[in-house]
Amino acid sequence: MRTNDENIELAELLFPNVTTNVENILKEYPKRELKEGAMVLRFAPSPTGFMHIGNVYSGLVATRFAKQTEGVSILRIEDTDKEREIENGVSLIVNGLKGFGIEFDEGMVDEENGVGVYGPYIQSQRLDIYAVFAKDLVSKGYAYPCFLSSEELESMREEQEKLGIRTGCYGKWAKWRDASLEDIKEEMKKNLKFVIRLYSTGNIENSFTMNDLIKGNVTLRENDMDAVLLKSDGYPTYHFAHPIDDTLMGITHVTRGDEWFSSVPLHVELFSKLDFKQIPYAHISPLMKLDDGKKRKLSKRKDPEAAVSYYVEKGYPKQGVLEYMLNIINSNFYDWKLQNKGLSLDDFRIRFEKFNNAGALFDVVKLNDMCKEYIATLSAEEVYKNALDWALTFDEDLASLLNENKDYCIRVLNIEREGDRIRKDIVKYEDVKDQFVIFFDNMFEQYECEDISDRVSVDLQKNIISKYINVFDISNDLDTWFGKIKEVAENLGCKPGDVAMTIRVALTKRTRTPDLYQIIQVLGKDTVISRLNKYQV
Ligand code: GLU
Repeated sequence: MRTNDENIELAELLFPNVTTNVENILKEYPKRELKEGAMVLRFAPSPTGFMHIGNVYSGLVATRFAKQTEGVSILRIEDTDKEREIENGVSLIVNGLKGFGIEFDEGMVDEENGVGVYGPYIQSQRLDIYAVFAKDLVSKGYAYPCFLSSEELESMREEQEKLGIRTGCYGKWAKWRDASLEDIKEEMKKNLKFVIRLYSTGNIENSFTMNDLIKGNVTLRENDMDAVLLKSDGYPTYHFAHPIDDTLMGITHVTRGDEWFSSVPLHVELFSKLDFKQIPYAHISPLMKLDDGKKRKLSKRKDPEAAVSYYVEKGYPKQGVLEYMLNIINSNFYDWKLQNKGLSLDDFRIRFEKFNNAGALFDVVKLNDMCKEYIATLSAEEVYKNALDWALTFDEDLASLLNENKDYCIRVLNIEREGDRIRKDIVKYEDVKDQFVIFFDNMFEQYECEDISDRVSVDLQKNIISKYINVFDISNDLDTWFGKIKEVAENLGCKPGDVAMTIRVALTKRTRTPDLYQIIQVLGKDTVISRLNKYQV
């Protein structure tokens, strides 16, 4: 065992360049002046290059709670794993979330820069801060250098497995825990790599109870692992950075993925040894998917819909995705929306009690429905504008078509967009192109015509077309137009439905289309006549 003085000496030896102390650091991060009940939350992704749709979900949780309580949301980048990092990883996160309207009050805005006075907001720029806290812990006997090599760690693990006991560096297995200062000094002379570990004083036999804001009261065993706090390159582990960053940044609620729940005992010990007030936790279950009737995690490897890029590339409306996400966060959102038509989404307040503790199901069919419903509420001009914004990046042909035929395209998009039968056939902007196929001859010509001869005989179709051409008048109003359909049917002794179907197929090559009268109005006289003439039964 080392004495207090020896620990102080050891701290100096390990961190000769740390000249400031914990007190000074704490002064640089004063308590936030916020109103009672204001929540400060952070979203803390690692810049690995892949944006999971779960990131949008977590980002939304943090920003919503902050906004609805007049608090602060922070985007903190956790780039302590240099091997997993990619170029432009931060921008990818910032822009990916911005694409869904998720923006933070503080934190990183691009690769290097952050906004706010509680930064730096990227962990690689905070190494000197972690060193100050590590030095402090060493000087108090709560942390120590460990020189175990990876081979030694591996053989320790094998031995533990052979003995059938817990693996890891703890208790008597933690060889350097109580090493004398002399031995440490000797080892340091060898210039070998070493890490800084926690000197755990927990006892696995003891349990404690804590309240998780989503899981409720949970009883856990104390930590007794001497976890690594600083790696040999001076970078902190997640475990060490978490209490330090969240405390300094004034976080009031730690919302994070469920995968961190098992580390709570270690984090509780670290908060205590660092002399920090414990910040409440809310562990969010991962998004799930039904696969063959079984629930499993939405997987980056197996499910294309797990990637944020999937929604961006297909042109999902951001509002529809947000509404669906809100519904996953708190399943009372649908009801709220129905009862509060006309209110903005910002008026819906999310609550921890309403989170799904068992893992919320992410259902693309429901998401599609919400997006359809949402696009149905937009005007033709809005659909046009959003589709163009999307197409400029993802579909050059559609972008030129929209650009070159603005008024005509808006008229097409306006079909069945007013009145009580609003069309709901666009889920995402990728689908918009299909709306134009029948309205542009070059696309129309390439399209195969559906065959209705089993419903309306070839002869009858021919007769319908020749009679209808004679009475067709583009300026007819809806009633007159329909009167003429009936008249042709009476003349030929068939049903008005047969007449309408034949004209529909002649003009659109499809049996199912939006309102035929409106289609005719948009196509215009010349196209209608030419297609009727060209129709090959
Ligand atoms: N960087 C961690 C992760 O991506 C953050 C966890 C947390 O939010 O505390 O899992």
